[in-house]
Amino acid sequence: MIESASAWIYEVSGRPPVEGCVDVGEARCWMCAASTLRGMDRESWQGSLFTGQNKVRAPESLVVCEACIFVCARSSPVPGKPATGTKVDKAGNVVDKAPPNFRNFSHLVERGPDGRLVHIAASKGEKPLIREFLARRHAGPWMAAIADSGQKHVIPWTPINPGGPGRGRVLFDEQLVALGDVSLVDDMTALLSKGVTKEEIAAGDYGYLSWRHCGADVSRFEEERSGLRRSAWFDLALWLAQRDEEKVEAEFARRKEESGGTSGRKKPSRRSHSARAAGVSPGGGEPAQALGPDPRPSEGGSAGVGGAGGDDHAPTPGDAPGISEHAVFALTPPAGGGGRSRAARPKRAPRARGA
Ligand SMILES: [Zn+2]
Repeated sequence: MIESASAWIYEVSGRPPVEGCVDVGEARCWMCAASTLRGMDRESWQGSLFTGQNKVRAPESLVVCEACIFVCARSSPVPGKPATGTKVDKAGNVVDKAPPNFRNFSHLVERGPDGRLVHIAASKGEKPLIREFLARRHAGPWMAAIADSGQKHVIPWTPINPGGPGRGRVLFDEQLVALGDVSLVDDMTALLSKGVTKEEIAAGDYGYLSWRHCGADVSRFEEERSGLRRSAWFDLALWLAQRDEEKVEAEFARRKEESGGTSGRKKPSRRSHSARAAGVSPGGGEPAQALGPDPRPSEGGSAGVGGAGGDDHAPTPGDAPGISEHAVFALTPPAGGGGRSRAARPKRAPRARGA
């Protein structure tokens, strides 16, 4: 019996019959390669609309399993998450929104000692939950399908890791990631909390203010971690790292004090998505959170722990598919520039602060 992440998710969802699926005898799934008794002819399922052909696990098969069809369907409810489609907009109004589907969450699943699967669906606002899941040792088999864009199917191709020692592999959107030591996330978090930006860490190119105010930390990080840059694990770790807002505030207060009350620091602002998408960097001084949601564990609701029938009444996740941080890293030129001093100026130019 070959298992798959799709089959696991289908199991925690209570295996509801999917319309159009029939007995297929014993077959392997074209997408996830799991053994299956029920499914659909692959040609009659989505057909030319399906764009994941290059990822299919059993290309010779003619059948897609019921589990894959279930997790790919927009209408399939996510255990522990609301099946209704509303959210509160910035003005505080309740607006209609399509109900969340499996693509909108990261899915963390492990098989407990009693044989039951435990499932957590985490929104992008719940990165600490994902970090914790990846950091701990799993006694039984486990998987993590980590969604960044919210636009792609991740589950069907997510590997299942054996329990026990070893760090395992996870799927981060389309990127297979061999996990490293989670202390990398903590080191990044420490830098971010000192005012260094995600762009700077991603590129390994730090602005004047980062060198000036935490040069020793930057040097240590580069010495110890730069060898991991460009690895998939480095990208995932940076995605997981979120600065501690209180520490950042304290750091800037300290800088202000140091400079006699006129640090020239621009109040952390949220640039528009379009500015981000264009790779416009305000002198490298963009707050790290601009690349990811604030570390608010409550955002997107609580962990949908439990299998089918999880009953937390979480708000609809605030995870409207946004720009991929990968895309930002790829598009944004190394964030040179003078950090937080004054307004957006494109190029690094050590200059007098204040005034
Ligand atoms: Zn399948």
